[in-house]
Amino acid sequence: MSRTDAEVVIVGAGPAGAAAALDLARAGVSVLMLDRPAEARAKPCAGGVTIKAAQRLRFDITPVVRETVSGITMSHAGRWVDHFEAAAPVCLMMHRPELDDFCLRQACLAGATLLRIPGIARISQDSVSAVDGEGRVTISASDGQTFRARWLIAADGAHSPVRRLLIGQPGGAMAMAIEGLLPREQVVDRPWPAMRFDYASQAGGYGWLFPKGDHINVGLYTHCGTRHAVSRERLLAYSSERLGSDALEAIHGYPIPVRGDQQPLSAGRVLFAGDAAGLAEALLGEGIYGAVLSGQMAAAAILGGGGMGSDRGRNVGAAYARSLQSWRRELRLTRWLASAWYRLLPAPYALLRMGLHKPLMSGFSEGLTLAQSKRRWLTPDTAAGRRRAYRQTSVGRRD
Ligand SMILES: Cc1cc2nc3c(=O)[nH]c(=O)nc-3n(C[C@H](O)[C@H](O)[C@H](O)COP(=O)(O)OP(=O)(O)OC[C@H]3O[C@@H](n4cnc5c(N)ncnc54)[C@H](O)[C@@H]3O)c2cc1C
Repeated sequence: MSRTDAEVVIVGAGPAGAAAALDLARAGVSVLMLDRPAEARAKPCAGGVTIKAAQRLRFDITPVVRETVSGITMSHAGRWVDHFEAAAPVCLMMHRPELDDFCLRQACLAGATLLRIPGIARISQDSVSAVDGEGRVTISASDGQTFRARWLIAADGAHSPVRRLLIGQPGGAMAMAIEGLLPREQVVDRPWPAMRFDYASQAGGYGWLFPKGDHINVGLYTHCGTRHAVSRERLLAYSSERLGSDALEAIHGYPIPVRGDQQPLSAGRVLFAGDAAGLAEALLGEGIYGAVLSGQMAAAAILGGGGMGSDRGRNVGAAYARSLQSWRRELRLTRWLASAWYRLLPAPYALLRMGLHKPLMSGFSEGLTLAQSKRRWLTPDTAAGRRRAYRQTSVGRRD
């Protein structure tokens, strides 16, 4: 059976894997991405790309933006319905397969290679190679091919086969979401909706409508999948209630791992990124930002070196963990917030209406995280902060 060598192998070519591949390839490192066949890759995702995620990407994603959103409609139990508008975009609506293809193409144009494999069978690590005194990782695919690399980035999603093989599945409840697509022609007697969150449409979370031009992505989210299940029946009922039709296509449920602050980020010469490292946030279930951020940080840690010989794996792992410290603190905060927010509803919704929407919407439009929005609002320089936050932000350009 064949064996392929590369400096870095990345398992998983979603947002985390593609972000890591792009930075490594641009730095001249040989990168091989491994992913399953395209037809096995359908990833349930509402494709809402926040401004902070768009700003993190190294390229302009305008070609795959379906709709640009600067206002969000929110409701609680149909009693309160509010539309909160920011002066600048707060979210970009993508169809997820188009976004993935686009990001993947950027990585390949930079020099990364993509290979389709049926799955991963085995991972092994040797501490010292006879060639240069450094360790190697060997990845065996389930069709018998093997791949050998100095570093492996596991960006293989919520069920991460690499993590399962190396250190087992993490404990603790995951968030869960279920979604379906409603074709535009099914929306006959209602106006085309704005981006919408309906709190109280799903216990422990919310229902969403994300408009995408030719369809609406309709979904339910819960921050704790073991306590509050999402279901197909509830999704169909929600779609009928909001849009007058339950003719949803491509219905899929999937976990969203939100416990990245409690999980190891590396094991020897393997770095975990994105959902494989549990880096989505729990309040809304946003995972693309954490995926792109961690992919880039994994690449930076590898490019940063970490000394020579057998300590190198440990040093690179430590540098990677340091670079994600503040995001992991934010994950802990948002998990706590999610649990309080959904337990205390409708009181938090009342706070939103009373003015909390302002720092949130301005923070979203400026590309701030929740903690940064909160800090901005509480600093003495608040008036200037708010003015800055409402100024038009440029979207999606980094270089
Ligand atoms: C229903 C739903 C809606 C969501 N909506 C949003 C949203 O609107 N905005 C947002 O920011 N986040 C959203 N999320 C979260 C977001 O989708 C994830 O956090 C994000 O995709 C994580 O990116 P990733 O690159 O880490 O993993 P993934 O996107 O899951 O990519 C993992 C890759 O690994 C590959 N892979 C898996 N197993 C193997 C294997 N054995 N061999 C080779 N390759 C393998 C997969 O094919 C895939 O390409 C949503 C999640 C769900 C479930």
